[in-house]
Amino acid sequence: MLSVTDSVTCIDSSPGLIFFVCSLLGALVRNSLHCIFCREVLQGRGSWEHILLNAFGGKAKTKTLSCAMCNNKLGGTIDRELAEQFTLVRNLFEMVSGDGRDAPSLYKVQAGNRKINLLGNGRVTLAGRPFTVEELGGGQFRVAINVQSLDELEAVIPHIVAKTGIAEDRLREQLAGAQFTDTQDRPGIISHKYSLGGEGAMRAVAKACLLLWGRTLGNEEAQKPEYDEVRSFIRNGSADFLSARTFLDSRPLARADEVEKAYGPLFNFVGVTSDARGKVVGHFTVYNLLGFQVVLAEGGAAPCKTVSLANNPLDPKIWSDKADKVGSLLDADWLAVPSFETDEYRRRSVAMMESYYRIIGARAVGRIVDRVCARYGFAGDDPIPPEMLNLIQEEIAVRVAHNIAGLPLTIPVSPEEIAGSVRKAKKGEPTS
Ligand SMILES: [Zn+2]
Repeated sequence: MLSVTDSVTCIDSSPGLIFFVCSLLGALVRNSLHCIFCREVLQGRGSWEHILLNAFGGKAKTKTLSCAMCNNKLGGTIDRELAEQFTLVRNLFEMVSGDGRDAPSLYKVQAGNRKINLLGNGRVTLAGRPFTVEELGGGQFRVAINVQSLDELEAVIPHIVAKTGIAEDRLREQLAGAQFTDTQDRPGIISHKYSLGGEGAMRAVAKACLLLWGRTLGNEEAQKPEYDEVRSFIRNGSADFLSARTFLDSRPLARADEVEKAYGPLFNFVGVTSDARGKVVGHFTVYNLLGFQVVLAEGGAAPCKTVSLANNPLDPKIWSDKADKVGSLLDADWLAVPSFETDEYRRRSVAMMESYYRIIGARAVGRIVDRVCARYGFAGDDPIPPEMLNLIQEEIAVRVAHNIAGLPLTIPVSPEEIAGSVRKAKKGEPTS
């Protein structure tokens, strides 16, 4: 590339040729883009790649650093491994992905003496069949139905018809006269084993850091031989690299309170910084719970640079990759001494659970309000007549009190409610 630039100087008396040479220069610059992982020439075939994983609410992407093959291969292996270590956190906090998809659901989780499904949208359902049929002989059946809503009751009716052979009209008549109860209960204690870190997760962290670094400092910087070892670690793994150049770090980020103010109590933070010798260190704090650190280059890389990216996984549209806002948080002295203390990690886990009760408690109350209003036929911003207000408020208060105390509550569902639902559905009207 340098020789081409030189030749521009030699021939700058000929405008036509300058144009030609400049085009050639442009072509050469384009051709110099290589995948920073496998070194294949990209030639405009770069693949959109998330810097912070989509699963963590990441929105920033780059198309000039990796090929489609590496993107797919690494995304389906190491990125997945890192994301899966935090599935429970995402599920508990109902964290949507960067592209807006629901948090992952957890099925058949043992909660106290029951098995439940924790859906990604925050709903909790009992695991198992929504209905059972016991044949009593002589064309008689005992049908037990366990559904979460009148809508779900509607959905199981055709299945009960198929299983028993009872005519649908007859079944609906019987349902309208049957005794139903509405039970509200908080799930029992859930124990969930998980482990954080390990080679796959660390490779994904190294990848995110190298992508962020390359996105700001350029494809050429990330291709330097100083990054060959981390490149190989990302692609193939290495026990030596893992033990010598990666660390779990339980220390809260310096001035974490400022990051929290901007990106919420569960912020993600990816930062890369280099010292005067060109030693490059990447740091990744996941959900303000735990830090991962990787030495991307031991020396000789671009010196004295800092880049960083932070987001609010509870509201992924809040994010920034402007180093000037949070970049000063990465201090080389602080990065030089990563440490993992179990007590510190436990303290941060407790802080996370406090956030959980605060955030999800408020959402649970919102759901109870919606559910009670729906029971009385009101939805969204429907005005509630004054004569109904007391009744509705009373039921909300009772339900919220039971929820806070963790006590089960059973309320009979009137035959009119069931019949109403069944009749409306028959006419093809909405049931909620
Ligand atoms: Zn590649």
